[in-house]
Amino acid sequence: MTRSLWKAKAQKTNYPALENDITVDVAIVGGGITGITSAYLLAKEGKKVAVLESHELAGGTTGDSTGNLYKMVDKRLHHIQSKWDEKTARAVAESRGAAVDLIENIAKEFDIKCGFKKVPWYLFSETNKKDETIEQEVATAKDYGINVEELHELPIPVKVSTAIKVEGQAQFNPAAFVRGLAEKISSENCQIYENSNVHHIEKGENLVLSTPKGKVTAQKVILATHSPKGIYGVQTAIYPFREYAVAAKLRSGDYPDGIYWDTEATFHTSMRAYKNDTGNYMLVLGGHHKVGQEDDYERFFKKLEEQARKYFDVAEIEYKWSAQHYKPADGLPYIGESSDDGIYYATGFSTDGLTYGVLAAMIFRDELSGRENKWADLYKAGRFTPIKSAKNYIKENINVAKQYLKDLPGKAEAERFSEVGIGEGKVVEVDDEKWAVYKDETGQVHCHSAVCTHMDCIVDWNDAEKSWDCPCHGSRFEATGDVIEGPAFSPLDKRDVKSRKNS
Ligand SMILES: Cc1cc2nc3c(=O)[nH]c(=O)nc-3n(C[C@H](O)[C@H](O)[C@H](O)COP(=O)(O)OP(=O)(O)OC[C@H]3O[C@@H](n4cnc5c(N)ncnc54)[C@H](O)[C@@H]3O)c2cc1C
Repeated sequence: MTRSLWKAKAQKTNYPALENDITVDVAIVGGGITGITSAYLLAKEGKKVAVLESHELAGGTTGDSTGNLYKMVDKRLHHIQSKWDEKTARAVAESRGAAVDLIENIAKEFDIKCGFKKVPWYLFSETNKKDETIEQEVATAKDYGINVEELHELPIPVKVSTAIKVEGQAQFNPAAFVRGLAEKISSENCQIYENSNVHHIEKGENLVLSTPKGKVTAQKVILATHSPKGIYGVQTAIYPFREYAVAAKLRSGDYPDGIYWDTEATFHTSMRAYKNDTGNYMLVLGGHHKVGQEDDYERFFKKLEEQARKYFDVAEIEYKWSAQHYKPADGLPYIGESSDDGIYYATGFSTDGLTYGVLAAMIFRDELSGRENKWADLYKAGRFTPIKSAKNYIKENINVAKQYLKDLPGKAEAERFSEVGIGEGKVVEVDDEKWAVYKDETGQVHCHSAVCTHMDCIVDWNDAEKSWDCPCHGSRFEATGDVIEGPAFSPLDKRDVKSRKNS
């Protein structure tokens, strides 16, 4: 079973489900770092706010992340500088720095037990093939007044060709931060609901959000759902990927805190040392693929375990998990109002979204309070930057178009239910329709239409997470059909196993 270290260790939350109709100024859909920080900042401005979380707080990508906070970006600042310009890269570093400072201030002000601490960030290459990437990052960082130290050795046992260190970045436990902040802000004016899935938003004079047992009427809505729910143009400019993680419990070795990023292009690994009352761990993350477009999911865990054992004295792999991120076409996230309909979203964070999520909350606070935010235009939701994003845009949208070909007759993985093993899912062709067929551990067969309820792509079985994943825009569904994440609002349509004669 996959489960992140943070989620396994987090204390259970206990917010009620929405069971009546309420009216607020701002309804926030999603209780990850973006949603809860937005709720905090908006309630502080005097807005009446409700957070509606479909599962539990920090139960999405926030609770599956590494917990690193830094000014730099996954794609490197020099890449932003070359794609955009110096002014943009400088603003990215500055805005991200402000978000990290806000996290630090919140953690201090509310005394949130999330282990926030300042740590160094390291970027290294194991062979000289990637030295150039590091040199470019040194030059860019120095231009922006970020103090960079060049090294040839790391405080962890990984041999490097070149390495750099930037002091003053940070780490925390992301689930503990979100849950700790929620506890402090939950009140009549900042209502928090869990197990309250928003399945429809009616647009009119006000916005009306429907959950299974209650409705929320609001003037403004923030979709803090990582990818906006429903159909938005931005979905052609954000590309869903899954990435893998293991938490290796160490038999020996006690390594200093730090954010360790490897530049190796094929497996881009990040490492983080972590300790708790049960021992010392090394978190190793890496490997990625487009959502719903992989044949061997387990290979990523094997490779990460191999890497952990190569460098460290590993007693066991105690936790393993995977999580989703959305790469933006032009390298920057999309934050703000979708059009002029009162619905705001924040997406395209890549793997830098703990900081971008908090930055989005700062932008939402200002925009919804009628104040100017100096970074709002840079990250503006409705922008389209053809020159900066054309190559990615065309490549990724051809990839999406190809996924639709799976709907052609004869493209199913099986023709009979008997071909589906215990604990396994397969797309089976039934009377010219594709069914998502899952056989649970007791042998019971669960049948759904394999057509994603977002934009009609055919879902794919994810053997590591036991889920149905959509290769087009990243919607994911439980083996039993319910939505886990991504833009789809509705579960997969149920199919009646008995209606199938030839099983
Ligand atoms: C492997 C990995 C490691 C990462 N590590 C880092 C890192 O170290 N540092 C960093 O800055 N970033 C990191 N990131 C990125 C970062 O984790 C995310 O960008 C960030 O957590 C997104 O936060 P969020 O609140 O926007 O979304 P989420 O945390 O995904 O929250 C969205 C919430 O919305 C809820 N929701 C969805 N649909 C509905 C609905 N219909 N009704 C109600 N609720 C709904 C979900 O249940 C979920 O709780 C990492 C990403 C990956 C994949």
